[in-house]
Amino acid sequence: MEKTQIIYRSTRSSHITATASEAILQGIAPDGGLFVPDRFPEYTNSFDWLAQLSYREVAYEIMRMLLTDFTEEELKYCIDHAYDDKFDIPEMTRLKKADEAWYLELFHGSTIAFKDMALSILPYLMTTAAKKNGVTDEIVILTATSGDTGKAAMAGFADVPGTKIIVFYPKGGVSAIQEKQMVTQRGSNVHVVGIKGNFDDAQSQVKRIFGDKAMLDRMAAAGKRFSSANSINIGRLIPQIVYYFYAYGQMVKADEVKAGGYINVAVPTGNFGNILAAYYAKKMGLPIENLICASNENRVLVDFFQTGVYDRRREFILTSSPSMDILISSNLERLIYEVCGEHAQMTADLMEMLSKDGCYKINEEMRDHLRVFYGDYASEKMTAQEIRHVFETAGYVIDPHTAVASSVYRRYREATEDQEKTVIASTASPYKFARSVVTAIRPGLSGKSDQELIDELRELSGVEIPGAIVEAGSSPVLHDTVVEVSDMEDEVSRWLGL
Ligand SMILES: *Cc1c(COP(=O)(O)O)cnc(C)c1O
Repeated sequence: MEKTQIIYRSTRSSHITATASEAILQGIAPDGGLFVPDRFPEYTNSFDWLAQLSYREVAYEIMRMLLTDFTEEELKYCIDHAYDDKFDIPEMTRLKKADEAWYLELFHGSTIAFKDMALSILPYLMTTAAKKNGVTDEIVILTATSGDTGKAAMAGFADVPGTKIIVFYPKGGVSAIQEKQMVTQRGSNVHVVGIKGNFDDAQSQVKRIFGDKAMLDRMAAAGKRFSSANSINIGRLIPQIVYYFYAYGQMVKADEVKAGGYINVAVPTGNFGNILAAYYAKKMGLPIENLICASNENRVLVDFFQTGVYDRRREFILTSSPSMDILISSNLERLIYEVCGEHAQMTADLMEMLSKDGCYKINEEMRDHLRVFYGDYASEKMTAQEIRHVFETAGYVIDPHTAVASSVYRRYREATEDQEKTVIASTASPYKFARSVVTAIRPGLSGKSDQELIDELRELSGVEIPGAIVEAGSSPVLHDTVVEVSDMEDEVSRWLGL
């Protein structure tokens, strides 16, 4: 049973299939669909056993179930090289109990956001996949970022032989520190470009370029091929399933939950990747009861869960949680595919409506399958209040993205009286958003400089300033290109010399 291969299918055409390694190499299916596993393997070991495993061991156990065409040796090579001392604590992630919730700190990697959990291993998975499949083309990673993916992807791919990476970020739509981290990136194979548009513009253009026949022909002629480091790549999602299993094991180990007992998970959501990974963990047998999907003021997903209508025709709002400023949540397509009974044509039709009309509606039967999701949002004011509240009651400082989830969870608990223990995905270090965080706690300090606020945060939190912050502050700016959205493709051609 264990060794039966898992096949990956496009959400938009059931005849487009790939092995795990092929799906990772391609990033997105040729028809514009996303690759999904044709079944979810069941976790059958005991949770007491799981509780004894290190993060790397859990990573191996979970990843081998889904990446069935990788050998044990290949997977262990990827895990050992990715999950090393790039992380500032040996356990890589930890659970911190504060104010009636368990915060899963996923920001101990080199760029201090949860994206490191997957993006530190993706380059290894991808180069291993290329080798396995006899691919000798240069792999060009094309990435749209709402602030954190870009830096984490570059950190992973910088100077990896046989690869290049281009990152597009919304100029003016990311935090000062996020931008500084990106434009100081070293590496001869990296290119960072600001765009005069928002994240949705960047992501839509990148998806379009992936499907542009003329461009792909020129790439092929030059011995190059595209892939993706966004969570549209299944190679991003699978490593994210791991930490939900690991967190559950840690809850069992700490006697917070009996082996097999249920927990809830609350996730601050943008592109719907992180929470989809939690849903996949549930489908693989992890005892997760409810999935609390938290949005900021870009509350398109809240409306979707409440009404069954997905409508992106609304104002795009810039918030203090910029990595969630998204109106087109790409990974929702994978959930739609699940809940319509893996009906590729229906999924393709709905996605067509989204791109043509900006909106689609799902039927009642599909809505029934969504009941495990609870969607709500936190306004800017609620987010700041939550940061202050958690600090004042527990002395614990959280970043604005985590605060969105924490705030939504607080109101969920009040509204439902659900007492189930809840793990909140803590997705970024507060240092990455020092201005928003410090001024939420000490509104009087808004006149201070970014550096003064970082020092203030150190006082408040008692947590040392992470190396990533020190480095961004002291490194020279190496990238200053800014282009119109309509010029993104030309910029790619220019930089690649096509
Ligand atoms: C990317 C990101 C999110 C949103 O995650 P998705 O997988 O896009 O839903 C939340 N918080 C932070 C800090 C992020 O970088």
